[in-house]
Amino acid sequence: MGWLGLDDTDGLGGGCTTHTMHRIITILENESAEGGWVVSTQPSLVRLWPFARRRTRGNAAVAVEITCKSDTAGLSLRVRLEELWHEIVVPDVARNGAAISSEHSKREQSDASPAMIWSPTRPCREWYWKCVREEVGIGDCEGVIPPGSRVWKCAGGHGLIGALAAISWLGEHDHTWEVTCYRREENISSRRLIPESRCAQLDSRFTETFLNRDPTISKSLIAPRTPCPVLFGVRAEDGDAAIGAAKWIYQAVECEPISGWRLWKTNQATDDHIATISKSVVTGKVSVKKHGHTVFTTDHDNDVVVFSQGGAVNRMAQSLREGDVIEYSGLCAPDGSLHVEKMRIISYSDKRRMRPLCDCGRRMKSMGVGQGIRCPDCGEKQPDAWAEEFAFEGQFELGRWVEPSASNRRHLAAPLGRCGSR
Ligand SMILES: [Zn+2]
Repeated sequence: MGWLGLDDTDGLGGGCTTHTMHRIITILENESAEGGWVVSTQPSLVRLWPFARRRTRGNAAVAVEITCKSDTAGLSLRVRLEELWHEIVVPDVARNGAAISSEHSKREQSDASPAMIWSPTRPCREWYWKCVREEVGIGDCEGVIPPGSRVWKCAGGHGLIGALAAISWLGEHDHTWEVTCYRREENISSRRLIPESRCAQLDSRFTETFLNRDPTISKSLIAPRTPCPVLFGVRAEDGDAAIGAAKWIYQAVECEPISGWRLWKTNQATDDHIATISKSVVTGKVSVKKHGHTVFTTDHDNDVVVFSQGGAVNRMAQSLREGDVIEYSGLCAPDGSLHVEKMRIISYSDKRRMRPLCDCGRRMKSMGVGQGIRCPDCGEKQPDAWAEEFAFEGQFELGRWVEPSASNRRHLAAPLGRCGSR
């Protein structure tokens, strides 16, 4: 028994680590009887720390368990993996891995730096948690590679970090599924042909699937917008539901023919990257920066940022006042600021309280500390008092979480409606 891990084979020029692994798995499946091994039907796809400096397009790494029926099978598998590294991975990287500036992404992207590992045991699961929540360097891999492993690397082999993470991930805390359908080689540069009418019905026909559409812009989310070999991917709470939904799409006559598909067990939509949820008091002025990004401070964090892409989260942030009690989850960026992903208001600050209305209908005003209140219109005076209601902007229900629209969320972010999500 052992685990095969792979990462960092794609570049902006194209390619996709899941596709490279899909091809390796397909070959090993076809040779399984002769070779004496069994390839798991549930390979893993993990997304890692979103701020990783060295990151490929999707920041995904993949792994698969392979059981060898004998020691001889184990030896011939090692030989076969060596060949596949040279026949599949290296040529894929040569073709796709060069860093090309592209209008498809404004993000900084690294050159492909692939690594593949065959390991007789799994590295400790803490490695996965480290890789999904913080910056990890290639030097940190040293003590993590299990004894007896074989590692293949080229162009620096930074993919070893993710390959080890994919192997160490168990998904016992939470997991979801994705079926990825791949394009035929000759179609890869052309426009994707996907039956829009079927995409629109996915939510209602296959209720265990999710993230199919962004209802705020009625846009399908199943197809990537990069020149990669993925035609589309369907995410679901259940593997069979993902397979059923994917088949329903690709079997439509209007759908482009696919070269194959693969079911992945994934950490997508699990919030695994979120270490803590902070309950905090807003401590200062909320300021709106260029492009509508909102910045404020709390008793927990000195620099809380909510990007304009956060949609409802950003509107909620802009409505905050000093003294409001909120809860939020997010990621600490390398510059020390906290990037909020989800937020809710627990209670409003006393500073939002309003003075009562005068009998004439005008709102009373304070005359100064301890000096009572007075109506600016009729001059009516009363002792200090507060109205029952609070003044607040926006319509945010206390205690209700808000999140960005589906197309503005990270792969790792758990949608609020997801069962099993926090
Ligand atoms: Zn009055």
